[in-house]
Amino acid sequence: MTTFPLRIGTPDGLLYSGDVVRMVLRTITGDRAILANHIDFCTGIGMGEAHFVLEDGTVRRGACIGGMVTMQNGVCRILSTTWEWEEDIDKDRAQRARERAEEKLRKGDLSGKEAQVQEAKLKRALVRLSVKNH
Ligand code: ATP
Repeated sequence: MTTFPLRIGTPDGLLYSGDVVRMVLRTITGDRAILANHIDFCTGIGMGEAHFVLEDGTVRRGACIGGMVTMQNGVCRILSTTWEWEEDIDKDRAQRARERAEEKLRKGDLSGKEAQVQEAKLKRALVRLSVKNH
């Protein structure tokens, strides 16, 4: 199968560099699958599960939150605010974060800014749980 080079980085450094068959992630305009020979593009990353597939069929999965993704001259680059590999996600912690955020939002006595913070925490927790529950 045709592969293309993928690089995944965060502010902490390069997390992955290698050839893949397919990369799937959530962008600000929806889920996008990237294959070899995809046209050049650049867009923002949303909050969601991301995965890529190697030539031998191995799937690597993670929570990918915020940042930019580009495809340029056949190379896909993901610069993500947060990337957590599936195996590194602490499910109980995400569950606790979900419950805390839901409880605070349920009480309804938050300022607009505080509500936005809790909504973002809830979304991150749900992404982490969905990656773990895949
Ligand atoms: P929490 O309330 O549990 O800290 P949060 O959504 O507020 O959740 P973040 O601010 O998004 O946490 O992340 C802080 C750091 O902790 C980041 O390095 C992130 O990768 C890591 N992190 C957060 N939640 C988890 C988790 N469930 N499993 C593994 N790492 C996590």
